[in-house]
Amino acid sequence: MGNVSSLQTQNIIVIGGGAAGFFGAIAAARVNPSAQITLIEASRKPLAKVLISGGGRCNVTHACFDPALLVQNYPRGGKALRGAFSRFQPKDTIAWFKKAGVKLKTEADGRMFPVTNSSQTIADCLLETANNLGVKLQIGIPVMAVKSSSSHFTVTLKSGESLNCERLLLATGSNPIGYKIAQDLGHDIEPPVPSLFTFNIPEHNLTKLAGVSVNTAKVRLQVSEKIRLEQTGALLVTHWGVSGPGVLKLSAWGARGLYESNYRATLIINWSPEYHQDQLREHLLAVKNEWGKRAVALHRGVNLPHRLWQFLVNRVQIPPDTKWAYVSKDTLSQLIREISQGEYFIQGKGVFKDEFVTCGGVCLKQVSFKTMESRIAPGVYFAGEILDIDGVTGGFNFQSAWTTAYLAGLAMGERE
Ligand SMILES: Cc1cc2nc3c(=O)[nH]c(=O)nc-3n(C[C@H](O)[C@H](O)[C@H](O)COP(=O)(O)OP(=O)(O)OC[C@H]3O[C@@H](n4cnc5c(N)ncnc54)[C@H](O)[C@@H]3O)c2cc1C
Repeated sequence: MGNVSSLQTQNIIVIGGGAAGFFGAIAAARVNPSAQITLIEASRKPLAKVLISGGGRCNVTHACFDPALLVQNYPRGGKALRGAFSRFQPKDTIAWFKKAGVKLKTEADGRMFPVTNSSQTIADCLLETANNLGVKLQIGIPVMAVKSSSSHFTVTLKSGESLNCERLLLATGSNPIGYKIAQDLGHDIEPPVPSLFTFNIPEHNLTKLAGVSVNTAKVRLQVSEKIRLEQTGALLVTHWGVSGPGVLKLSAWGARGLYESNYRATLIINWSPEYHQDQLREHLLAVKNEWGKRAVALHRGVNLPHRLWQFLVNRVQIPPDTKWAYVSKDTLSQLIREISQGEYFIQGKGVFKDEFVTCGGVCLKQVSFKTMESRIAPGVYFAGEILDIDGVTGGFNFQSAWTTAYLAGLAMGERE
C-alpha cells in the first residue's frame, strides 16, 4: 500500500452508484484520503439493485473461501477472477462489513445475508461509509459520454455540464450507455444477454402441478450437439415450467447458447437420481411383485410427490386403474425412462425474481485483473457487472462486484 502523504491529490470519477461504484469509491477514498472522489449516479435512487436483491434480503456473498472452488461458480469470468479472489474474497467481504458494523450470517446452502435480513442495512452501510469518507455524490445525473485526452478524461453529463478527472471507474452495470462509453474508449463488448432465468415448458399437465417440488433431481440441458449441460439440485414446478437451483445454474451456463436458440431446447429430467437405471428396474420389479393388486397410479413406485407420480404414469399412458401386476416389460421400461430421463421441450424463458444478471460486457482480455485498469485506455478502470463476468445464483454476483471494485479502488487511489 502506498504512503498516503506521498500521494498527489487526484481527481477520481466513479460512474454508477451501484454495489461496485460505492465499493470502489470507498476503497479509493480509504487508500488516498486526499483524493477528490466524485460518484455520479444516473437514477434518483442509488444502490437500487442492492435494495431489491435477494428478495429484499441481499445475498451479499457465499461462504466459499477457497478461490479455486469459488471461481467454479462463474460461467463467465472465473479464470480472470482466480487471482483477484486471492486478493479479495468472501472472507474479506465478511471482514469488511463487520468492520463497518454489519454482521453477516450463513444459511444452510452457503448463502450469506445481513443478520437483519434486510438489504437496506447493506445500502445504508455503503452510503454512510462513502459519506463519512467525503465521497462527493451526484445523484440523478446520467453521464452521457467520456472523452479522453493525454492528461485527463472529460465526463459529459446529461445537463451538458462537463467534469474532468485523471482516473475513471466505469461501474455502470449492464446499462447500454455504460457499454457505449467503454466502447468509445476503445473496448470491445461481448454482446449482453440475460442469465439466471427459469424455463418455460408449456405442457399443461406439467404446469398444473405448480408448487410441486423434489429435493434432488438431475437436469440435463441440450441446446445443440455442442451444448449439453447437467446439474443436480432441488426442482420446482411453476405455473410456466420449472425452476430451482439446478435449472438456474443451467440457465447461467447455457445463457448464450439458449439466447442463440431463441430459448428452444430440450430438458431431460431424472426425477429420482438416487437410483441407477438398473437399480430402478429392480426396485420397480420388486414393487410389482409385492403390490401387484394395487393400481400403479395410486401406489407410488418411487418416493415422489403423489401428483408428480400420477403425472409421470399418465405421461407413459398407463390407464389410471392398471394394477402393478399387469404392467408389461415394455411399459415398465417406458416408466423407467419417464422417471429417469423424461424429455421436456423448453419454449422460452421465465423470470427468477430473486436475482438476475447479464452475461456479456467489457472483454476481459482488455483489463488487468491485478488493478482492474484497462489495458487499452490507461486511467480507465472497470468493476462489477459492466465486465463480461457473471455468476450463478447464491451471492456470487455481488462477490465479483466487491472484489473487482475493491481492487480498482485500491489501484486508483494508490496511483501517483
Ligand atoms: C432482482 C435482482 C436481485 C439480485 N439479487 C442478488 C443477490 O442477492 N446476490 C447477488 O450476488 N447478486 C444479486 N443480483 C445481481 C447483482 O444485483 C448485480 O450483480 C450487482 O448489482 C452488480 O453491481 P454493479 O454495481 O456492477 O451494477 P448495478 O447494481 O446495476 O449498478 C450500476 C449503477 O450505474 C448506474 N448507471 C448506469 N449508467 C449510468 C450512467 N450513464 N451515468 C450514471 N450512472 C449510471 C445505474 O443507475 C446503477 O445504479 C440481483 C440482481 C437483480 C436484478
